[in-house]
Amino acid sequence: MKLIALPAFSDNYIWLLHDDHHALVVDPGDSAPVLTWLQHHPGVQLDMILVTHHHADHTGGLTELVSHTHAHVAGPAMEKMPVETQGLVQGDRLDWHGLGFEVHEVPGHTLGHIAFWAQPVDQAPVLFCGDTLFSGGCGRLFEGTAAQMLGSLDRLAALPDETRVCCAHEYTLSNLKFALAVDPDNQPLRTYAQICADLRHSNQPTLPVPLSTERAINPFLRSRSRAVSNAVRQRDARAMDDVTTFAALRTWKNEF
Ligand SMILES: [Zn+2]
Ligand SMILES: [Zn+2]
Repeated sequence: MKLIALPAFSDNYIWLLHDDHHALVVDPGDSAPVLTWLQHHPGVQLDMILVTHHHADHTGGLTELVSHTHAHVAGPAMEKMPVETQGLVQGDRLDWHGLGFEVHEVPGHTLGHIAFWAQPVDQAPVLFCGDTLFSGGCGRLFEGTAAQMLGSLDRLAALPDETRVCCAHEYTLSNLKFALAVDPDNQPLRTYAQICADLRHSNQPTLPVPLSTERAINPFLRSRSRAVSNAVRQRDARAMDDVTTFAALRTWKNEF
């Protein structure tokens, strides 16, 4: 299986997975980058589209892609989609040419947001997590609560270490600026920030990133650590327990 990040808009990635015959894409907010890729790979047929949540920058290309390719669309059962969609819930399994995707409900950014995890043969697993987990950060709480988002991130953080995290946006550098303000003595974070700065300098994506790296550097996965929780509590007296600390951390990021 080959994994490709197709850039879209200013900072979205449309993830594409293919085996030289069949392809799937994730969250096609725009059909154009996908159709262009397919034109350059005439032997590959797009037959599956996965959707993590209803926002337009993740669904805007669905109608045109389906009319061009008749690909099957699978997405969150709890959210409204512009095309006919197989609705998925927690624990569902979706089979694509022998590759089994596990479906995880990860509410917070939106209420019905789902994530897809699968392990291709002889490869590290992939996680398509939309706008829930970003490298160095997490999605804004548009619909859900801090408690929901914390539970969703806990669910994703429990996946295997070597999982390749495929987020839907290139927000890494701005997230890391905040992470370094919260967690300045974190040496793995400082090292990772330099690697990402170099990647972006040469116009390369910072993604995918191993989940083990995210656990070491992402303040939203480290909100219970002494370093992060102390930093939050020094700034915001409302931070008392896991959920209020996480909420205060998210608020701090919004104001950063
Ligand atoms: Zn979104
Ligand atoms: Zn988005």
